[in-house]
Amino acid sequence: EGHVHEKIDYVFKVVVIGDSAVGKTQILSRFTKNEFCFDSKSTIGVEFQTRTITINSKVIKAQIWDTAGQERYRAVTSAYYRGALGAMLVYDITKRQSFDHVARWVEELRAHADNSIVIMLIGNKADLVDLRAVPTEDAVEFAEDQGLFFSEASALSGDNVDTAFFRLLEETFSVVS
Ligand code: GDP
Repeated sequence: EGHVHEKIDYVFKVVVIGDSAVGKTQILSRFTKNEFCFDSKSTIGVEFQTRTITINSKVIKAQIWDTAGQERYRAVTSAYYRGALGAMLVYDITKRQSFDHVARWVEELRAHADNSIVIMLIGNKADLVDLRAVPTEDAVEFAEDQGLFFSEASALSGDNVDTAFFRLLEETFSVVS
């Protein structure tokens, strides 16, 4: 993305967490490759993807980690969280259970990640308006309560994906700089 010859000022590790099938892998590939892949889960074994962006004239390489399906077995290890400065906590707006589990994921972050980690709550699949099971206000309230940033997004349409990552990375930048 035109940063090939530029020096990198910061590397930010960001972890993507949330229940299985909420769209974590697709959000990641939308942000790093601007792609949505219909035959998902070809990513097993791939640990992270990167995208380099500029914030306040600083070149920041975002290294974004995917659980690669480990969350199915509740086997996300502390190594996954180690050194993470930001977290994308994803639920599916059409699956109430994935939102009900968000509190557990926040606990997991508080237990394993750095105290200053910046957390962005993402209500994914916002394109599926007719299937919505989680009102936006519920998520707004939860996010305010827990001190999280919040956005609904769609990995499929791409809506709000970049905006949410940029917001997270900007907040992370303001924490570290
Ligand atoms: P993960 O297990 O959390 O990594 O979820 P995946 O990224 O593998 O996505 C799970 C399923 O949801 C796949 O069938 C995706 O095609 C689908 N999906 C992911 N994001 C979206 C989205 O924004 N909108 C819609 N309609 N489907 C999505």
